[in-house]
Amino acid sequence: MKMSKLYAPTLKEDPTEAELASHRLLLRAGMIRRGAAGLYSYLPLAWRTISKIEAIIREEMEAIDAQEMLTPILTDAELWHQSGRWDAYGPELMRVSDRHDHEFALGPTHEETYTDLVRNELRSYKQLPVTLYHIQDKFRDELRPRFGLMRGREFIMKDAYSFSATQESLQECYDQEKDAYASIMERSGLKALQVVADSGQIGGDTSVEFMALADAGEADLVYCDDCGFAADTEAAVVGIHVEEGPGSELEKIETPCDGTIEAVSKLLDLPECACRKSVALVAEDGTLVLAIVPGDHEINDVKAEHLFGHYDLMSDDELEKCGLVKGFMGPVGANGLKVVADVSLKDSQSWLVGANEVGFHFKGAKPGRDFQVDEWADLASAKEGDACPKCGAKLKGARGIECGQVFQLGTKYSEAMGATFADEDGKEKPLIMGCYGIGVSRMVSAIVEQHHDEHGIIWPVSVAPYEVEVVPLDVNDDLVWPVAVKIASDLVAAGIEVVVDDRKERPGVKFNDADLYGFPYQIVCGKKAVKNGNVEVKDRATGERQELSIDEVVAMVV
Ligand code: ATP
Ligand code: MG
Ligand code: MG
Ligand code: MG
Repeated sequence: MKMSKLYAPTLKEDPTEAELASHRLLLRAGMIRRGAAGLYSYLPLAWRTISKIEAIIREEMEAIDAQEMLTPILTDAELWHQSGRWDAYGPELMRVSDRHDHEFALGPTHEETYTDLVRNELRSYKQLPVTLYHIQDKFRDELRPRFGLMRGREFIMKDAYSFSATQESLQECYDQEKDAYASIMERSGLKALQVVADSGQIGGDTSVEFMALADAGEADLVYCDDCGFAADTEAAVVGIHVEEGPGSELEKIETPCDGTIEAVSKLLDLPECACRKSVALVAEDGTLVLAIVPGDHEINDVKAEHLFGHYDLMSDDELEKCGLVKGFMGPVGANGLKVVADVSLKDSQSWLVGANEVGFHFKGAKPGRDFQVDEWADLASAKEGDACPKCGAKLKGARGIECGQVFQLGTKYSEAMGATFADEDGKEKPLIMGCYGIGVSRMVSAIVEQHHDEHGIIWPVSVAPYEVEVVPLDVNDDLVWPVAVKIASDLVAAGIEVVVDDRKERPGVKFNDADLYGFPYQIVCGKKAVKNGNVEVKDRATGERQELSIDEVVAMVV
């Protein structure tokens, strides 16, 4: 590829809208362009990287017999009604209707679609397990689309769905996907931590997130060097999977304090809270609401049910029953507060609402549930410096970019949507499902976050748009230009992807652009070196330069 033909318009200045290095560099290197908030075009260089990530994903999926296919992006509202998520998903779901007023959603994830797809076809245990996946644009009306490809409203996801007859089989599919994800991250050049995203309920890992370590990451993590425990504090707080719901619009509301128990108590002039983790601050319609459970209630049950989609203020009766000052139950997004679960207390059945930074609050009177919560109760407070819930060593803190998540769904969707199979004994049972997502486009941002310096991007070879840039310093020179052309064509013949900077630019401009684009190797053809039969090879990652003979250089780079 000739640089003069390459559609990768660079920007000299830092774009003002870009706060993160990855956002800034992807814009500056002419890899992405914004159409509207959270909507980006992938220009040729970005598209090459995306194709490479996808190729790695495909190889890893093939190795575990996951089969690629493609479903429509547009999903029938009817399916979302069946699963209960038409309401529950909240404003993040992009809804459209056709000329007959029939409603659809632009798929943010495709559990419903795949469950619907297989429910009439996978009828016998003999056909199971099956894992299907696609790589496709997803749509989410994110509250705050930002950071370039990091949090888009349209983005590329690989999502897989497994269907099993038994829990053991699900575990196997899940473990295989998890291992494949670890390879995908590694092969793409990402240092990623596997963190527990869901430690409650059944115990053990029923959901793991793949977090690319980066200061720019939006996720707070804790990890233990001694025993390998690692958790997303968002999930660790509550020990169950948290999804953003309609409550997240509350984030718009400014809370006039930092949300700590002390601060809220002071603000509302409430008596000091005697209890542990029992206060939640929520901002509803601009009002602060506080729930306080005095004393040390013993929590015996928790149900990990999604709670977004409904919330209500507690009645005076309920408040009194629980001894609450004020209470609120529902999805909360303010300052990282999130509603998470309902629980029962030993003496009075109650709801539990988890809040990231503040704690929990309770609401009365519900039927009992059957999960143990001891573990997450400890995790709830897990912050850097705390004791590891597994081994007691000191936890470390880190920030991460969520690049993927694997999740044991169980029968949530198959039950709701009537996707059953006949078991060995002839009984109809719901399919046992897993879902597995990777943010392909977000990975591009994560890779750049981990691989850049002040001059530009430093692509890992496996996902570099091109592997080598040949930089003839003077394209009009009779010695230099033919050498550059020869090296480039020899490299191409050897299967290497090459860009030749054939522009009549000054060397300084060429060097700067080469560093900004960040292809792994630069082969600089300068007049003096060429005269001596040499060229200079620069390793973008280390900055090391090496003079090699023109005859040797192709063999060395290959
Ligand atoms: P987040 O916590 O960052 O909002 P999520 O947990 O909602 O992500 P999942 O539902 O687990 O996302 O989707 C699978 C993967 O899709 C995520 O691990 C992430 O890599 C990617 N992803 C999710 N939302 C976005 C987005 N708005 N833009 C780009 N990638 C995304
Ligand atoms: Mg999300
Ligand atoms: Mg998440
Ligand atoms: Mg996730």
